[in-house]
Amino acid sequence: MTSLPMIPSRPESAATAEPGAGIPLRPVPRGRVVPPPRHLADLDLAGRAALATELGERSFRARQISTHYFGRLVRDPAAMTDLPAASRDRLAGALLPTLLTPVREMACDDGATRKALWRLHDGSLVESVLMGYPDRVTVCISSQAGCGMACPFCATGQAGLTRNLSTAEIVDQAVYLAGVAASGAVVGSPARLSHVVFMGMGEPLANYPRVIEAVRRLCAPAPEGLGLSQRHITVSTVGLVPAMRRLAGEELAVTLALSLHAPDDELRDELVPVNQRWKVAEVLDAAWDYSAHTGRRVSIEYAMIRDVNDQPWRADLLGRLLTGRRAHVNLIPLNPTPGSRWDASPKPVEREFVRRLRAAGVSTTVRDTRGREIDGACGQLAAAEVAE
Ligand code: SAH
Repeated sequence: MTSLPMIPSRPESAATAEPGAGIPLRPVPRGRVVPPPRHLADLDLAGRAALATELGERSFRARQISTHYFGRLVRDPAAMTDLPAASRDRLAGALLPTLLTPVREMACDDGATRKALWRLHDGSLVESVLMGYPDRVTVCISSQAGCGMACPFCATGQAGLTRNLSTAEIVDQAVYLAGVAASGAVVGSPARLSHVVFMGMGEPLANYPRVIEAVRRLCAPAPEGLGLSQRHITVSTVGLVPAMRRLAGEELAVTLALSLHAPDDELRDELVPVNQRWKVAEVLDAAWDYSAHTGRRVSIEYAMIRDVNDQPWRADLLGRLLTGRRAHVNLIPLNPTPGSRWDASPKPVEREFVRRLRAAGVSTTVRDTRGREIDGACGQLAAAEVAE
């Protein structure tokens, strides 16, 4: 593990929070709501042009500043030298406020995995992870500060929800890390960010409008957005059925990942508490409808937890639920979180689970455990605990 140069953190400001739009299963702290500042990534190109005009600037300036941010991944207004200084100051003041202040960046896996901890304008902390592979570069981003879904094996779930992130706070994580990748920092990988997974902190479908807008921005061609392919975006959910159904109607061909973790309601009620509201059968129905609408294969996430959900009979039951469906199972060796009573399944148990699923004709892989040493692996993101 290497510690990268760190920007000194500011003292903790009074935490403020807004109630999430989701279904918080834990109490949402209430306080004075100070929304994040507006940023160009919150607006489409027409909205930015309208704002430029309001500021007394020519509307094409909005395209210029957008080209810097989305096209060249330049975030520092001082480097936007093709804009006259006065215009630049006015536009940057209105459209490029600092949303994310890096508190700490860490690398492992020989530099192929990097975790960034950010401080937001109100002192909230969130994390993102950049992962380089020979053929692609993926960022794992957060959609909320904390999470209200309370899954007992997930570090983020333990502290509850602080607040939803704004569209720009979500997009800026990807743009910032796309810039890191573009600098050649991820050795042995392409320099261009290609994939985004909403598998960081938070439940993306509990912050629905902002997440959808963020997806639109990530996929719009530059300079409106980052120009990623919809197929290279994965939205992961605990299974908020109404939101899954709404997502199917958005005409977005993003990959849906469903965090199933158990094939039976008795166990899933415990591992994914939202199952008490929407049962396994209902959530799978919504997944199949999503697949029918979009033509996309659904990714079924299943954390392998020793002696909890890894029994051969559960593999067989899962196989029966998924046979003949457009689904792919991603088994995630549990990343133990501090204080947890649970551990990952032993490898022979994992292999038998895979064997049974494949025997049922279900496409199955085991996720690599990138970022484990820097607490950057799935379910390990818990910014509050690593804060100074
Ligand atoms: N809230 C969303 C996305 C965030 S987590 C969701 O639940 O889908 C991304 C994935 O990591 C989810 O499948 C989640 O269940 C899984 N995960 C959480 N904690 C984990 C842990 N400790 N070990 C392995 N996977 C974990």
